[in-house]
Amino acid sequence: MTGRPVPEGALFYAETKRRVAIPFDAELRHLTEETATQFGALLASGRTPPAVYRADRCRACSLIDLCRPKAGSKSALGFRARAIEAALNNGETAP
Ligand code: SF4
Repeated sequence: MTGRPVPEGALFYAETKRRVAIPFDAELRHLTEETATQFGALLASGRTPPAVYRADRCRACSLIDLCRPKAGSKSALGFRARAIEAALNNGETAP
């Protein structure tokens, strides 16, 4: 934008109050361009990819209540079959 080189950026972690410098090297620039291209294709497809639960990422994620990554592996058909079976066998309304 300004024509001046930007050799690095920084991430600031509010909880630990630590700043980490990130060098903008050729590898990171390539990865960023590739990711942007793939993200554009994903948006153009109109499909949201399923959330995949990863404890190392999801436990601290502020979106976990909205995202519900553990629910993605359970099928609605299976839920319905279990609910019907429970209602028929035990008089319960949901598993
Ligand atoms: S809870 Fe957060 S980290 Fe886990 S899949 Fe959803 S958005 Fe990603």
